[in-house]
Amino acid sequence: MEGEVLLKLSGVRRSYLSGGEEVEVLHGIDLEVRQGEMLAIVGPSGSGKSTLMNIIGCLDTPTDGSYTVRGQDTLNMLPDELAALRRDFFGFIFQRYHLLGHLSAAENVQVPAVYAGVRKVKRDERAVELLTSLGLEERVAYVPSQLSGGQQQRVSIARALMNGGQIILADEPTGALDQKSGQEVMRILSELNAKGHTIILVTHDRKIAACARRVIAIEDGRIQSDTVNENIVSHVGEKNQDHVAINNRWARSVGSYYDRFKEAFVMAVRAMVANRMRTLLTMLGIIIGIMAVVSVVALARGASEQVLANISSLGTNTITIYPGERMGDVRSGRVRTLTPRDLNALQGQPFVDSASASVQSTVLLRQGNLEYNGTAYGVSADIFRVYGYTVHEGRLFTDDEVRRNAQVAVIDHNTKENFFKDDDPLGRTILVNAMPVQIIGVLDEIDSPFMRSDQLYVYMPYTVSMSRLNHLNYLSSIVIRIQDGFSTPVAERSLVNLLTSRHGRQDFFIQSSDTIMKSISSAIMTFTLLISAIAVISLIVGGIGVMNIMLVSVTERTREIGIRMAVGARQTDIMAQFLIEAVMVCLLGGFVGVLLSFGAGQAVQYFVPSITLSFSLDSIIAAVATSSLIGIGFGFMPARSASRLNPIEALARE
Ligand code: ADP
Ligand code: MG
Repeated sequence: MEGEVLLKLSGVRRSYLSGGEEVEVLHGIDLEVRQGEMLAIVGPSGSGKSTLMNIIGCLDTPTDGSYTVRGQDTLNMLPDELAALRRDFFGFIFQRYHLLGHLSAAENVQVPAVYAGVRKVKRDERAVELLTSLGLEERVAYVPSQLSGGQQQRVSIARALMNGGQIILADEPTGALDQKSGQEVMRILSELNAKGHTIILVTHDRKIAACARRVIAIEDGRIQSDTVNENIVSHVGEKNQDHVAINNRWARSVGSYYDRFKEAFVMAVRAMVANRMRTLLTMLGIIIGIMAVVSVVALARGASEQVLANISSLGTNTITIYPGERMGDVRSGRVRTLTPRDLNALQGQPFVDSASASVQSTVLLRQGNLEYNGTAYGVSADIFRVYGYTVHEGRLFTDDEVRRNAQVAVIDHNTKENFFKDDDPLGRTILVNAMPVQIIGVLDEIDSPFMRSDQLYVYMPYTVSMSRLNHLNYLSSIVIRIQDGFSTPVAERSLVNLLTSRHGRQDFFIQSSDTIMKSISSAIMTFTLLISAIAVISLIVGGIGVMNIMLVSVTERTREIGIRMAVGARQTDIMAQFLIEAVMVCLLGGFVGVLLSFGAGQAVQYFVPSITLSFSLDSIIAAVATSSLIGIGFGFMPARSASRLNPIEALARE
């Protein structure tokens, strides 16, 4: 016999572990198959024909012995190298067709070419050509369930030929068919052999086997006979006229990777659409998680923006100096060194825009038959400039009035409302404890986080306060407004140096609006992190849901994975398909989550205007990135387990 030896098995054994015991199914098979042969392997059920066929087709590996394909030993090949052989060299025809149910005939035929990296146009063209040559031109767009058994088997023959099908392996190809369709399939196989395809056929039916020139009888895992029927024309050594050269340069190009990615993407979308309800429920976890995260972040940002806006609405950058070593110092009441002279010294400093003394006391305010508790501030005329308070009616007191101990007062909006509702308060007298003062002005309403809106505030010269109200000769604080353009830390340092040298030691402490702003921001930050952590947990729970469903999906589609592997899908192809699906579910969930949180934000703002939500592009980008990461992270395990399935076991699964 001339003709290149394509396949060579020597001493091939295969044993299975069955019930803890090793059972050998093939007991040393020696076989050579040449280019152009048509060979039937015949034997009773259970004799090991399929096992042998799977080894020949590189779907399975021998436990012992060697198997070479065109001189290449398959023993040490990696899974993807075996996949390449299946893809480019072999074409499988199975007893049960093994078509993918959700793909049309043409799409089924194209699957091996997708993995081989053939361009879409060429794939389409060849698929239609092959189906037409097999008499299925009218059925190109039908899905398998719309085709008869014989038609499905012809589709699977077309698929086997897609990448060239130099060696066609048919395991009981007529087993599920009626006699007529069976004969038709055998006629096609004989014709393919005449065109130079090498055909290996497995059957338990001697009549079918008789179509082949060479018949190998196998029984109990051993070759019993190897006979040649001289009546049948030999095509051994003839060149395959139907040879398809895979364009390897294209197959390794970026375009081909993109093509394969696109296929995997389409597959993923189809799987999602096919399981709409399940996809939606899985997504729900991600939707809720993303919605929680985005809303929480928006809420926290809104709150922080609002507080910071409140603080900066004071408009000024201030430093307050208190006696004692720190806030709440028990000795601070006894520290009496903060005096009006300190105030004068500070007023001369370049970093000081304006400064005011402050003597604070809780007082009883009386007017007519009304009396309320309030806070009296003894201050300098500059206090209003320091805090940026403006007068609503009347006027503010002057430095001269401070110097003269004038018993005048500027009251806040609340005080006016409480005592003088609709009357004009200007020029009226109010009793602060027992001291009468004349009201000269009313302040504009102040919206500040540091003022309680239900408190009454009365401002009068600190000189009056010290001498008539508190009988003190020291101040309870000094507040300065920093000159614009001076940095707070620099001003703080000079101020501390100045007062320390005046007092001989540091018996005071300072607090600046800057530090308050920072501590509020950091408090909000902590709070945000805390709720974000809770929101992230809900995202993780969503991710676990995705993983769970992906595992189910892999299990459900095991047979599909087996088919794809049999026609030459790489492990990475399978992995990509499932990963893309997981990422898509998460990304879509992420988008919906972001949209819903926007909607919820609008609703909240509509019904509760006092709550501010601030959505930022960052948080949305982060949400979408997070959801894809969740997809990759939680989809990885199921995708990997799919890609590592054993093709034979996967195919056997129903
Ligand atoms: P045939 O195709 O000739 O009917 P097979 O090759 O399918 O036979 O099976 C040959 C023998 O190997 C059978 O006895 C079968 O039970 C056994 N066998 C096949 N696959 C497995 C497996 N995965 N695990 C254990 N035993 C198996
Ligand atoms: Mg079998």
